[in-house]
Amino acid sequence: MFTGKTPLPGVRVSTETPKRDFIRDMVAADVASNKFGRPICTRFPPEPNGFPHIGHAKSICLNFGLAKEFGGRVHLRFDDTNPFTEDIKYVEAIKRDIRWLGFEWDAEYYASDYFEQLYAIALKLVERGKAYVDSENEDEVREHRGTVTTPGTPSAYRDRSVAENLDLLSRMKAGEFADGTHVLRAKIDLAHPNMIMRDPILLRIAHAPHYRRGDAWCIYPLYDFAHGLSDAIEGITHSLCTLEFKDNREIYDWLVREAGFERPPEQTEFARLVLDYTVVSKRKLLRLVTDGHVAGWDDPRLHTIAGIRRRGVTPEAIRAFAENVGVARKPARTELAAYEHAVRNDLNMRVPRVLCVVNPLKVVLTNYPEGSVEPLDASYYPHDVPLTGSRPVPFSRELWIERDDFMEDPPKKFFRLAPGREVRLRYGYLITCQEVVKNSAGDVIELRCTYDPATRGGNAPDGRKVQGTIHWVSAAHAADCELRLYDTLFTVPDPDGLPEGQDFTSVLNPDSLVVVHGAKVEPSVAADPIGTRYQFERTGYFISDEDSRPGALVFNRTVTLRDSWVKEKAKG
Ligand code: ATP
Ligand code: MG
Repeated sequence: MFTGKTPLPGVRVSTETPKRDFIRDMVAADVASNKFGRPICTRFPPEPNGFPHIGHAKSICLNFGLAKEFGGRVHLRFDDTNPFTEDIKYVEAIKRDIRWLGFEWDAEYYASDYFEQLYAIALKLVERGKAYVDSENEDEVREHRGTVTTPGTPSAYRDRSVAENLDLLSRMKAGEFADGTHVLRAKIDLAHPNMIMRDPILLRIAHAPHYRRGDAWCIYPLYDFAHGLSDAIEGITHSLCTLEFKDNREIYDWLVREAGFERPPEQTEFARLVLDYTVVSKRKLLRLVTDGHVAGWDDPRLHTIAGIRRRGVTPEAIRAFAENVGVARKPARTELAAYEHAVRNDLNMRVPRVLCVVNPLKVVLTNYPEGSVEPLDASYYPHDVPLTGSRPVPFSRELWIERDDFMEDPPKKFFRLAPGREVRLRYGYLITCQEVVKNSAGDVIELRCTYDPATRGGNAPDGRKVQGTIHWVSAAHAADCELRLYDTLFTVPDPDGLPEGQDFTSVLNPDSLVVVHGAKVEPSVAADPIGTRYQFERTGYFISDEDSRPGALVFNRTVTLRDSWVKEKAKG
């Protein structure tokens, strides 16, 4: 089990500590009092209209986690009641991503399988005078609903007889009417302080094929009608949703009560996860994908689960992050640094360290024998990681080092390579820069250096101090690779909170992807499978991408090495 290396003050990293939050406290109390008379049952109810994202991951961790912790069940239910936006490809993506996160559901359901039951409930409501067919269209219904300060005005059709309502409802179902001509509304109270309770629409006509039910239905339930009743049909106990559904709780309760369910489920709201510098609304994600601002739903710049996975983040990191963020009643944004901290903390403990030069500069060791190659023993893990292993790294006369690790005219504190200065090569020798070779344009193209054969392993027997250690690869052995360096997709922390009229795509970061060609990676990685994760020493965490071909490796940068979060937290 993963336990973090550097737990933050006030932040749990170990999943062994029992979790506490207001929802867990409530569930624990309900279990203790046997409130529902059955084991707890939660559900994750996505609408299959997009790929799941980091916000869904939080909801998944909560719902699946609770079922496990309290010996209950968890259902995966597709809330697929809108024929216009849903698709089987999203169903498949959602299932794959939940499994990738490490969870398995006890049962799989589809709200579209409940259309018959929902229709039966609709008939029952009509018979009892609790619902009526309104022949105003959806816009008129909205207009006549009034405002927070003024009551709504009843539609001319509100007092239709039960017989007339039953007749119209069955003809709506039979497909006699065009879209928008009639709706079924609950008959509650047009002056209700909660606007949602002012005779909400339950069913609407839509002559549109449904991705699962085909043309079987032309009346579709609205969210409020489908959601709570689906929960009740399945015997859910705790229906957990995000805060924007707080006002919907009243209609939820009204419907499950009117439909006659015993010990019906109860809805509880918690704060959505909203991460800085990204968007987690499927509507916006869909636009980024369809308008080509990103390469697809799995573009590593997106915080879709597919994007996160391709970026190299592990499911363990996402679970730890969800736990660190916690479950709260009040809305709050989450800093990107907190997310990246969870990602680094996890990768640090599990990935091998290897050498890769991003922007290569040739070094020739003039006193190293031509044609000679030495395998240097290089460990994959630092001492503070409980994993071991090493590989031979070939060392030879011609090497690549990082262009940034050389300065012709360096300031005093530059502890890397400069004319006449000595530096340590990681796992290798101390070298001294003797000569700088330039092309006709004056650019440095090669450094001619000498190495000290007595310093293999990096220490001088005479005890002389060399501060800097740089990474390198052998020129004759390195593999060429492409690096995809990702930065935030947006330039502002809150792309959802722009001034009226400013589109969120106006704050896309033009440098969110920088592609580096001609980077040089050590040969040991060439045979690793796609999806292997590494730390490229001094550079960042990377994963090999599915676009890799033999001899043309591609790596995605998961996250850089620097961690600003620990420092920020320490400051308080
Ligand atoms: P979106 O706005 O991205 O479309 P949604 O709420 O419409 O989100 P659904 O597929 O209906 O998406 O959501 C499935 C479940 O995931 C719901 O219970 C919802 O409350 C939860 N969920 C969605 N977004 C978040 C989030 N950002 N944080 C926590 N839970 C979320
Ligand atoms: Mg939704």
